[in-house]
Amino acid sequence: MSAVPDISVVIPVYNEEPNLPLLFSRLYPVLDGLGRPFEVIFTNDGSADRSLALLKAQFAARPGVTRVIDFNANYGQHMAIMAAFERVRGQVIVTLDADLQNPPEEIPKLLALIDAGHDYVGGFRINRKDSLFRTVASRVINGVRRSTTSIEMTDQGCMLRAYRRPIIDAIVRSGANNTFIPALAYSFSGNPTEVGVKHEERHAGVSNYSLYKLIRLNFDLITGFSLAPLQAFTMFAMASSAGSLALVMVLFYRRFVLNLDRETFGVFTLFGILFFLLSVAMIGIGLIGEYVGRTYQVVRVRQRYFVREMIESKD
Ligand code: UDP
Ligand code: MG
Repeated sequence: MSAVPDISVVIPVYNEEPNLPLLFSRLYPVLDGLGRPFEVIFTNDGSADRSLALLKAQFAARPGVTRVIDFNANYGQHMAIMAAFERVRGQVIVTLDADLQNPPEEIPKLLALIDAGHDYVGGFRINRKDSLFRTVASRVINGVRRSTTSIEMTDQGCMLRAYRRPIIDAIVRSGANNTFIPALAYSFSGNPTEVGVKHEERHAGVSNYSLYKLIRLNFDLITGFSLAPLQAFTMFAMASSAGSLALVMVLFYRRFVLNLDRETFGVFTLFGILFFLLSVAMIGIGLIGEYVGRTYQVVRVRQRYFVREMIESKD
């Protein structure tokens, strides 16, 4: 390792073979141009293509400033980033996706804001180039997050962000399991800010996120940062039981005082109420499961990922 790095750039890589050459050729000139010592930490998150070979070649080309963490399997984007966070040497940490949706040329913009005294700089995507479905889904999710947690973030899905070292250390110490990193970082930050960054189409390949993964991620986000869903459920359950009670009273009133509904009263009404209450109870059980599962994950301290090899120059 040459000079102690000032800036650590963290990049998770999962089957990004077609994107890596262009990433290298755009990222390194930007970093060289900063005139500050830097390091780039790639985590190969169990890629099945030639990503690892390309990362090794890049290490050979720029050994002083390149480090590669090689996972033995796929543990997900957030674990890949966490593994790099645990090993960063710089005082400022930048996260970036490997697929060139976040242009590396925007990094200096983030660093300028860090230098201006902020400890957290979040990027938000101007002119987002994702499918309509993804864009609309994120809007909805952003709205839910804003109303259930105290986290202010224009664009939670943008991974182009810069943090000061103490925030990263705090994240590492909290040993977050599968937690949404930008939100966690935000909660530790004293002076956060945001800046618009360009967004490009994925250079090659398709997003690694299925609808299922996105839903999981957002469950993590909401249950990880607030008890609002649980409380909302309680409120809803209270309101609905009051509603059902009122309904039953109306039915009884019509049947026994006004002497109406002689044929239809009974079975169907009760079934209706029963189904309703049952579904409310089931939502509740699911939500409780969400929290219990989370507690279980934290209690069961286990190894979260397995590093097969660290490719870095030994000093
Ligand atoms: N990624 C990863 N492990 C995974 C999925 C994704 O390391 O299991 C990386 C991927 O290589 C990319 C970043 O995380 O650098 C974002 O992934 P992607 O572009 O698929 O997500 P999207 O841009 O659709 O949010
Ligand atoms: Mg992407």
